[in-house]
Amino acid sequence: MKQSKFFIPTLKDSPKEAECQSHIYMLRAGYIKQIAAGIYTYLPLALRSIKKIEQIIRAELAKIEAAELLMPSLQPSELWQESGRWQKYGDTLMRMKDRHDRDFAIGPTHEEVITYIVRDVLNSYKKLPVTLYQIQTKFRDELRPRFGLMRGREFIMKDAYSFHADTDSLDETYQEFNQAYNNIFTRCGLKFRAVKADSGNIGGSESCEFMALTDIGEDTIVYANNSDFAANLEVYNLPIGAKSPDGNGTIMHAKGIEVGHIFKLGTVYSEAMKAQFTDETGVRQDLIMGCYGIGVSRVLMAVIEQNHDEFGIMMPKTIAPFDIHIIVIDPKADNQVKFASELENTLIKAQYEVLIDDRIERPGVKFSEADLIGLPIRITIGKNIEKGVIEVKFRNELVKHEVEIAKLINFIKEYY
Ligand code: ATP
Ligand code: MG
Repeated sequence: MKQSKFFIPTLKDSPKEAECQSHIYMLRAGYIKQIAAGIYTYLPLALRSIKKIEQIIRAELAKIEAAELLMPSLQPSELWQESGRWQKYGDTLMRMKDRHDRDFAIGPTHEEVITYIVRDVLNSYKKLPVTLYQIQTKFRDELRPRFGLMRGREFIMKDAYSFHADTDSLDETYQEFNQAYNNIFTRCGLKFRAVKADSGNIGGSESCEFMALTDIGEDTIVYANNSDFAANLEVYNLPIGAKSPDGNGTIMHAKGIEVGHIFKLGTVYSEAMKAQFTDETGVRQDLIMGCYGIGVSRVLMAVIEQNHDEFGIMMPKTIAPFDIHIIVIDPKADNQVKFASELENTLIKAQYEVLIDDRIERPGVKFSEADLIGLPIRITIGKNIEKGVIEVKFRNELVKHEVEIAKLINFIKEYY
């Protein structure tokens, strides 16, 4: 892909509205553009990363046999009346009226709609368990939208819902999601901890929050340096340096922001909305439910908040918009342009995604923008191709490598 054709509106200065480093860099590097408070456009760079996060999620959820669907954002108020949340959800719920004066919710979450969809269908124990999910734009009129994509009023969420005949089955699926979430966040390159929590206003019993560790987080997490023990400071008031309750390692503190949440909902919605099945003995029972969310757009920003330096973003390779940034020093030199285009083809054949900076700009500008955008590998094509060598630099290292052209692909493969 030629950079001259790929829309990357970089900014020289930090925008005034930016509140944290990832926010500054995402705006400056041309990943996102704010349209109103908490409402952003995902520009081409961010969208490519978001698609990669989504693919990781899809791959991990396929392993646990969850089926993808897509529900509407516009939800008739009647469903929210049934669950009792039309009142309870308060001002965070965005509402609208159609031309016939009928009320709608603009979906902040989909428990009501999914329960409506499965009721009367999942009507026998023989059809259970079932897990459904979607990846969709959600709307919440947050009191304080802030930190860019971290707390938006419009954001992308993966939400999943599972339906069961008994609590053992719910436990099993809940554990599978726990594992899937660990896999997803690890693959995205996130430093995170799974924290058991109380389930807030959704109701139900067990729940677990996956917290990305970052200084801009709103919660303080106590965790062990040597095991997966982690808890909210409010729940476990352990000082730094204390012995971990599980006996493994010492306690550390960190700020965290929730990137994922798994809940055992129980029968809160099925009871309110009369979604029942017939059990093995012929008795009607409320469906037992679980629900599982991931803040997809928040994950992107949390990854960037954890992976940057004084020059810009350092994208982990799994979710980088492209793998390789080719910088053509002199786009007016035919041999450099031709070389770049042949190299692009070779790299594409080797399964790499490539962005070529073909713009007529000073090399200094190209290098600093490449650092800002943060693709994992930078290859510079200049006069030295005449000597049969090429410069390769990894974004997370300071050294530059002079590599023989013939050995380039192998050199990159070793790293990637
Ligand atoms: P928070 O406590 O951060 O407000 P929540 O508990 O209200 O989040 P859930 O209803 O559990 O959020 O939604 C599932 C996931 O969606 C969250 O784990 C989070 O990653 C993400 N999310 C929630 N609200 C927002 C938002 N305003 N902007 C971006 N992502 C969000
Ligand atoms: Mg939550």
